[in-house]
Amino acid sequence: MFPTSRQVDHAQLSRVELHVHLDGSLRHETIWELAKKKGLSLAGCETLQDLRDIGDLQAIERIAYEFCEDEARNGVTYVEARYSPHFLLPLDVPPTFEALCEVVRAVDRGFARGENDHRVKARHVLCTLVGADMARDVLKLCEHFRGEGVVGIDMAALAKEDFSTYEEVKEECDEVQIFQEARRLGIHRTVHAGESGPAEMVRRALEIYGAERIGHGYHVLDDLQLYSKCLKEKTHLETCPISSFLTGSVPLSVEKHPVVRFAEDDANYSISTDDPTITGAYLQENYDLLWRWGMSEAHFTRANLNAAESCFLPEHEKRQLVKQLKNIFVDGNSKEEATQDLPFKATAHTRLDLTYALN
Ligand SMILES: [Zn+2]
Repeated sequence: MFPTSRQVDHAQLSRVELHVHLDGSLRHETIWELAKKKGLSLAGCETLQDLRDIGDLQAIERIAYEFCEDEARNGVTYVEARYSPHFLLPLDVPPTFEALCEVVRAVDRGFARGENDHRVKARHVLCTLVGADMARDVLKLCEHFRGEGVVGIDMAALAKEDFSTYEEVKEECDEVQIFQEARRLGIHRTVHAGESGPAEMVRRALEIYGAERIGHGYHVLDDLQLYSKCLKEKTHLETCPISSFLTGSVPLSVEKHPVVRFAEDDANYSISTDDPTITGAYLQENYDLLWRWGMSEAHFTRANLNAAESCFLPEHEKRQLVKQLKNIFVDGNSKEEATQDLPFKATAHTRLDLTYALN
C-alpha cells in the first residue's frame, strides 16, 4: 500500500482550498438522484453542462451544502468556490440579473448551512469565460454581493478542440476591460492561465488583466525570466495536481511536476482539486499524491499558509484565518513529537522544515 499523508483531523480543520469549481464538485450520487427525480435520462450527457436541466434553486442549495460537507471531510476550514451563475441557471430560465442573483443567493444559503453544520467557511468567486458574453453580468454580481459572500472574479477559457487556435487569455477582448474595471473597483481577480497554454498567458493575465492569482500556472516554468519575476513578486499559483495530469496540462512523462518545483523554490503556491466530480479525486488524494512525490507536512503547512495569505477575504478575516492556522500547526507539531507511529515524525529535520513553513 502507498503511504498517505496525514489524515484529516476533524477536530481541527486546517486546509485552505482556493481553486475548486462548485459546478465541478457535485456528488455523483446527487446527480443521479436529481436526474431520477426529474425523470431525466443521463444517456447522451457528455459534460456537466448537459446536465443543466437537473438544476433548480433547491438543487443548487443542496449542492452547495454537500460541497461544504465534502470540504470538511477533506480537512478544509476555508474554501473559495468558483462557479458561473449563468451555467447554474436551468436551461429554460433567461439570464436576467435577478435570475442570476437568485442563483448566488441559493448557493449562499447552502454555504451558510454548511458553515453552521460543518464549520467550513465558504465564499464565492464568480466565473466568466472568454468570449461567452457574460463578463459584464458577472462583474455586476460581484459588486452587488460584495460583503455578502462574493469575494472575487475569475476568468477561464472555453475548452476548444482545435488547440492550434487555443488561447486561454486573449490579448484583446471584452473581458480585458471588465477585469480592469474590477481592479479599479477593488474586486479581487484570479485568471486561469498557463494551465495548457504557454507562459505568455500567465504574463498576459498579470499584466493585461491585473490578476492577483493565477489558476494553475504550470507553464510559467517555460519562461524562467517570468518565473523568477513571479517568485520575486510572490504571485500566487493555484495548483491542482491530479487535475493537471487528467487534463493533459502536465504530461505524465514529466520528470518533476511543476508543483514540486514550486515547493522547492518556495514559490507562493497552494493545493486544490479543481473539479472533483470529473477527476474523482478530492483534496486528500491530491495531498497523498504529493506525499508520494516526497513533499512533507512542512510543505503542506507552507502551502496552506500561502493560500490563507493569498485568499480574497477582507483583511481582518484573512488575519484571523492565518492566526487560526498557525495555532493549529504549532500545536499539531508538539502533539506529533509525542506520537511515534504517524507518518510525519518530528525529527530535527522536520522541525527545521516547520520553522521554514511557519516563517
Ligand atoms: Zn479551474
